[in-house]
Amino acid sequence: MLIVMDSAATADDVRRVIEAVEGLGLQAHAIPGAQRTAIGVTGNRGSVESASFENLPGVAEVIPVTAPYKLVSREAKREDTVVSIGGVAVGGHRVAVVAGPCAVESEKQALDIARQVCAGGATLYRGGAFKPRTSPYSFQGLGEAGLKILAKVREETGLPIVTEVLDTDTAELVAEYADCLQIGARNMQNFALLKKIGRMRKPVLLKRGMSATIEEFLLSAEYLLSEGNYEVVLCERGVRTFANHTRNTLDLSVVPYVKRISHLPILVDPSHGTGKRLKVLPMSRAAIAAGSDGLLIEVHDHPEAALSDGPQALLPEMFAQLMSEVRLLAPVVGRTA
Ligand code: PEP
Ligand code: MN
Repeated sequence: MLIVMDSAATADDVRRVIEAVEGLGLQAHAIPGAQRTAIGVTGNRGSVESASFENLPGVAEVIPVTAPYKLVSREAKREDTVVSIGGVAVGGHRVAVVAGPCAVESEKQALDIARQVCAGGATLYRGGAFKPRTSPYSFQGLGEAGLKILAKVREETGLPIVTEVLDTDTAELVAEYADCLQIGARNMQNFALLKKIGRMRKPVLLKRGMSATIEEFLLSAEYLLSEGNYEVVLCERGVRTFANHTRNTLDLSVVPYVKRISHLPILVDPSHGTGKRLKVLPMSRAAIAAGSDGLLIEVHDHPEAALSDGPQALLPEMFAQLMSEVRLLAPVVGRTA
């Protein structure tokens, strides 16, 4: 259920409604919007009697929410959410581009790539220090040493850092260094991790699970919001299908769909979505045209020697080309880059 407050409602009116909700043993989540505040009610097993709230001062309407996700829905908040990652807006007018290597491999590698993506126009830097690998024998990431390198990249380039958090044990450590915590496809339904990160006050980049429906994807985001973390950016990174010409099938149709039913920003990751360097530029164009709030692009200066995801990494000059095309395309769909 959503309790929508009148635009003239006072802070006291909002507080009284929250007390009434909590008095019934339920949770109240105040979601401030540009025009009015909505209060999401969760924790109820069946339907809640709307009459308990309708007559409280400042209440404009009480809306039963039929969708299983509530706080992430457009019903809860009409305006687009803009998440600030270290001062860079994601979900606003300007498309955001997160770029960098799949994994931090050394200080030189991370800094060399960072200088080049920064010159190309990236707005955020990415690189994994803790890597989720299919094989236990593959490179697992540099761990804390990798996080320290990421902090140096931020210091030198000024780019805020997006990096993956793999488990609840290392969440605090990663949060000490990162500006945004990435929850990877394999962890999209790691509910213990979602709850823990939901209690942290750090922006989150939540990637779609490789076989997740949109409802499952949004319910994972709902875990984060229901714990109080509203700084959530979604990311479509492709799903597994019968197709074998591509690593995954990049499902661009989720962009307009998610934009309609949710207020959260959504990025597209054509690197993992295709797995092939030559497909990244055309699918980036398509993602911007479809209304994505930005892109996540893997870049490596020696992809043949990369310790993970080399075949999909763009060379820095290819990234610069991609950025110049994005700058041309974004205005066509009313954005800037
Ligand atoms: C990554 O971003 O490097 C990554 C492992 O992504 P995903 O979780 O989408 O596979
Ligand atoms: Mn990768």
